Amino acid sequence: MKLIYLVALTFVLSLHVTYNESGDDWTGTCQDGMLQSPFAIKDSKSEIIPTNTTRSVVLYPHFESNFTMGHLTSYSYALYSDWGYLTIAVPSQEPFNVYSSAFHFHSPSEYMLNGKYYDLEMHTVMKNPNAPGSIYVLGIFFDVNGKTNKFISQVMDSEKKFTDVNLGDIFSGIDKIEEFYEFEGSLTTPPCTEGVKWFLWSEIQDLDENQRLFFHKFWAGNASFADKNGNNRNLQEENDRLVIKYGERDDMSIKLEFSIFLLIVSISLCLS
Ligand SMILES: [Zn+2]
Repeated sequence: MKLIYLVALTFVLSLHVTYNESGDDWTGTCQDGMLQSPFAIKDSKSEIIPTNTTRSVVLYPHFESNFTMGHLTSYSYALYSDWGYLTIAVPSQEPFNVYSSAFHFHSPSEYMLNGKYYDLEMHTVMKNPNAPGSIYVLGIFFDVNGKTNKFISQVMDSEKKFTDVNLGDIFSGIDKIEEFYEFEGSLTTPPCTEGVKWFLWSEIQDLDENQRLFFHKFWAGNASFADKNGNNRNLQEENDRLVIKYGERDDMSIKLEFSIFLLIVSISLCLS
């Protein structure tokens, strides 16, 4: 497995990506693709599948710690190692695992959620060894709220020296992810390969201002990086793709429950 990381690392470090036009000048699939990422996600345009239904998908994180260093590439800050796996439990199917050998960051976020960009977005890129060529990405958003994020502190320490970085710390106290968006998209950097299965976790993670500045200084705060553009690609067309939002009741069922509640209250009042 170590050899795979070294080959992947050499490949990634050798790619030179520029953000002078925030990706609008990238060619090939980046220009012609119909399911490109990122794009603006809106709950109002998503199919909502509530938790604990026959169609619910659940993600189980099994990520771990590694003694490692971060790498600043031409387009991101990345950490390469054997980070563990995500178990994907789809109804009426055997659960399967997808394995991560790298994660990296974009600041500000690439996806826009209900009209909002977040301060930081992390991509954990994963593969299913039983489905060669498959790519899964778990996207995690961070936003400044004054609280220091323990995992991000480890990532920052890894810039200068080998550090214990525990990807599992993001999920501490959480054994499953039930609230997330799922859709088909692409890699957000050239060659913008499509057929990528995306999961975006709905739970926004803590970040303090110092931690935001750590990433900001590489890109949006760096005059020599693409005229202070961030390393986030411009939004792409959603086109006709299906976006599923798991883990929240849809408006209709909430309205129906409220109507029944009002009906019961009215009947009780009439009878009293
Ligand atoms: Zn990315």
